[in-house]
Amino acid sequence: MAEGRVLLVEDEPGLQLTLSDRLAAEGYEVETAGDGELGLARALTGAFDLVVLDVMLPKRDGFDVCRTLRQRGISTPILMLTARGQVVDRVVGLKLGADDYLVKPFEAMELLARIEALLRRAGHGVAPPAGTPGATRFEFDDVTVDTRKAEVVKGGVPVELSAKEFHLLRYFLEHRGATLSRDELLQEVWGYEHTPSTRTVDVHVAWLRQKLEASPKTPQLILTVHGLGYKFVG
Ligand code: CA
Repeated sequence: MAEGRVLLVEDEPGLQLTLSDRLAAEGYEVETAGDGELGLARALTGAFDLVVLDVMLPKRDGFDVCRTLRQRGISTPILMLTARGQVVDRVVGLKLGADDYLVKPFEAMELLARIEALLRRAGHGVAPPAGTPGATRFEFDDVTVDTRKAEVVKGGVPVELSAKEFHLLRYFLEHRGATLSRDELLQEVWGYEHTPSTRTVDVHVAWLRQKLEASPKTPQLILTVHGLGYKFVG
């Protein structure tokens, strides 16, 4: 029984070979694509549990592939590989719907840990989080959230959230009224302890506010607790 089906979109033959061998050794079923066009076509089949997507690719870059997948409703977790470590690139990628980042060069162990964490977050082969017995429907303000269907509706209109925004919202909903530090959110929602920056959390909170708050600049749902983190009070 495979650990999961992974699509690896990477154009450097050496890296493609090393990574696919390593993933296969860990029990993943791996398919590779050497350019953005092919990667997109394969990912659009929805046949994968996870996509590892290089940013710099021939024919179509990783950002473009990621955006197109999300626009076409493919919610498969995406781990982007980038040689460019600047925050602005991370923010662009996350905004386009990527779930996580890894900056080249990286250790194979690090990639495996991120993949495992993403698959765990996506609920691949694991039980629902503890402390949430049967709670799949939440309501606040004029918003309803169905965590089982991964649907968010505000004022009768569906709201599009990236996988990561959705996980963050779910964590807030499961911890209503509690002050949550950025570190806790990173650990619980992003699934690993060391991330480029806690600013990732701030960026996602800003996007959630933009999508859910009546007035994003004066939030009433996700409050900033100065010096501590955030609190969901919806
Ligand atoms: Ca490349």
